[in-house]
Amino acid sequence: MLEAHDHRSLGQRLDLFHLQEEAPGMVFWHPRGYLLYRLIENRVRQQMQRDGFLEVRTPQILAQPIWERSGHWDNFRENMFLLVEDGGRHSAVKPVNCPGHIQLVQRMSPSYRDLPVKLGEFGLVHRNEPGGALHGLFRLRQFTQDDGHVFCAEEQMREEVSRFCRSLHAFYADFGFEDVEVAFSSRPAQRAGSDEMWDVAESLLLESAKQAGLECVMQPGQGAFYAPKLEFVLKDRLGRSWQCGTIQLDLVLPERFDLHYVDASGQKRRPMMLHRAILGSLERFMGMLLEHHGGALPAWLAPEQVIVASVGEAAAGYAERFAAKLREVGCRASVDARGESLSRKIVDSHQAGAPWLVVVGNREVEKNAVRLRRRDGEQRDLPWDEAVAALVAECRPAAAA
Ligand SMILES: [Zn+2]
Repeated sequence: MLEAHDHRSLGQRLDLFHLQEEAPGMVFWHPRGYLLYRLIENRVRQQMQRDGFLEVRTPQILAQPIWERSGHWDNFRENMFLLVEDGGRHSAVKPVNCPGHIQLVQRMSPSYRDLPVKLGEFGLVHRNEPGGALHGLFRLRQFTQDDGHVFCAEEQMREEVSRFCRSLHAFYADFGFEDVEVAFSSRPAQRAGSDEMWDVAESLLLESAKQAGLECVMQPGQGAFYAPKLEFVLKDRLGRSWQCGTIQLDLVLPERFDLHYVDASGQKRRPMMLHRAILGSLERFMGMLLEHHGGALPAWLAPEQVIVASVGEAAAGYAERFAAKLREVGCRASVDARGESLSRKIVDSHQAGAPWLVVVGNREVEKNAVRLRRRDGEQRDLPWDEAVAALVAECRPAAAA
């Protein structure tokens, strides 16, 4: 039996998703779950746009030479799903999006005026995790990274890192996470690139973090094989820590792919590359979000925001009209016109994770009013128009202001 706060049981109770053994580590999204997924995705997309990223899409499968060049063939092959095509050519389903974005920058052949180039992708990646390691949405074989890469001149790098760091607290707060810690992870034992390169990358990244006013916990040896990282760790209501956001300063991949831009004097120069993600994996973040809130998501994220419960048959049409009005103004509203008792309807609305229940009976129909009932039991009687305005304000997407 799963515990009630486990995201797998919440996923079932709220009818969001399921996993089954024919597709280990890959999610079947139900309509309500996919709605939640897209709400999260859209909030990230809004942040990407604010930060100046251009959204792209790159191939799911790339041939072996690209993975050899990126270093994944030597350093990450056991985690990749490999394919052998006709003619014996090997390719791999992408475990990361970086080499794809590098191909785009190579095609662009940017000049210094084009920098920084910022590319973002909701990249569907696959990693061959052992079956025993799989765990609900927390550890999957197929997941979506809110991935982004910045290609910039050295003198632009600090500003890019601190811009990213500055936006994160407000972003996480929209999802109800207030407690964020920052860690700095330095070079691991197995790595690509020279020690001199790592010296430069580590000191630049650490300096930028300090410039952004961050205090970092040091994690020696925990960096990626190509770059040191800043990692943003969220604390949930159960006291657990989750690494979500990351920004990594990479001098290795620009070198390995021989990336360059043309500077003001017409000379070829090597750009620096930042890898960044706010959530890391959308799926894993959703798992955390569900457990953090025990399924009672903030109103802007609830797949069903308002349930309009009619009491008595005479109020059913009125309930339909009120729900239709809410949908018209952008709330996700449905009607519960079953012949059940009001207390049953209240319990079921909690089970469905709806933050608001609107109760209408004969009295409300006569007064052209409704009773608003919040998830915590607080109730208010309001005229129709005021209730609509109040609910619209409550259901509005985070950061819509
Ligand atoms: Zn990357």
